[in-house]
Amino acid sequence: MFENLSQNINQALRTLKGKGRITDVNVAATLKEVRKALLDADVNFKVAKSVTDTIKEKALGQKILIAVEPGQMLVKIVSDELTELMGGQKVDINTKGDPAVVLMSGLQGSGKTTFSGKLALYLKKQGRNVLLTACDVYRPAAIDQLKVLGEQIGVDVYAEPENKNPVQIAQNAIKHAKATGKKIVIVDTAGRLAVDEEMMREIEAVKKAIQPTETLFVVDSMTGQDAVNTAKAFNDRINFDGVVLTKLDGDTRGGAALSIKAVVDKPIKFIGTSEKMDGIDVFYPDRMASRILG
Ligand code: GDP
Repeated sequence: MFENLSQNINQALRTLKGKGRITDVNVAATLKEVRKALLDADVNFKVAKSVTDTIKEKALGQKILIAVEPGQMLVKIVSDELTELMGGQKVDINTKGDPAVVLMSGLQGSGKTTFSGKLALYLKKQGRNVLLTACDVYRPAAIDQLKVLGEQIGVDVYAEPENKNPVQIAQNAIKHAKATGKKIVIVDTAGRLAVDEEMMREIEAVKKAIQPTETLFVVDSMTGQDAVNTAKAFNDRINFDGVVLTKLDGDTRGGAALSIKAVVDKPIKFIGTSEKMDGIDVFYPDRMASRILG
């Protein structure tokens, strides 16, 4: 995860790490390299500039030039700023409600169905009574995929294979949950290969009808700036509550993780780290920053 970014940033900082004394010229040169590492990681250009400008301001403001270990101090400032950039604190999903309703949104292939299963298992392990709901009315295979996952993790799946109306299916699923004592309904929706008006209208309609306690936007982190642009398009339309970054296990660059919060101002809440049902982690910005700085 983020190997290239980690290597480039550490290389940029290494030149200063051991030095007893540094100058503002050293700091500027190092931060230029840090910015380059961020751009190579496919971090949004404005974000990369703004974060390195802030690091520079803080470094000089904290009298780093006369510090005993200026290199270490700079590493700490970089770590703090990367943490802030990724949201600062971890933010939990809201699962209060009777039942709580979690709506999934995102493009086809982003990992929505897989993540729906992962989240169901994660909540089940916490003792919650979960119902998965298949609202992808375009691909019969999507319903089967969710059913297979449900069976694998021991969670019930609600589906209406003959019904082509996702709003009705979602509403019926919530009724079914109430009748059967389920406390959390996870609604998996249909995606498209790219952002299109019909998909947006559909997800908007489902959201309006079921008033979810939590709307998550699921995106493939390996798509870098495309992930950020897609997040913006979805957020503008459905005002989601949090982001799920999937496939971090294959992402060597980390551009989406580092830019998404700054661009859409919504927290990353979970990450996907494998194809398996236990490949889910809560997103901790500080742990991710430490990981990048190795
Ligand atoms: P959907 O179309 O958004 O529902 O996407 P799927 O859930 O069908 O996932 C698309 C592909 O990505 C599948 O092959 C999944 O196994 C894979 N996938 C999903 N999440 C992850 C992840 O976190 N890591 C990896 N390596 N693969 C993932």
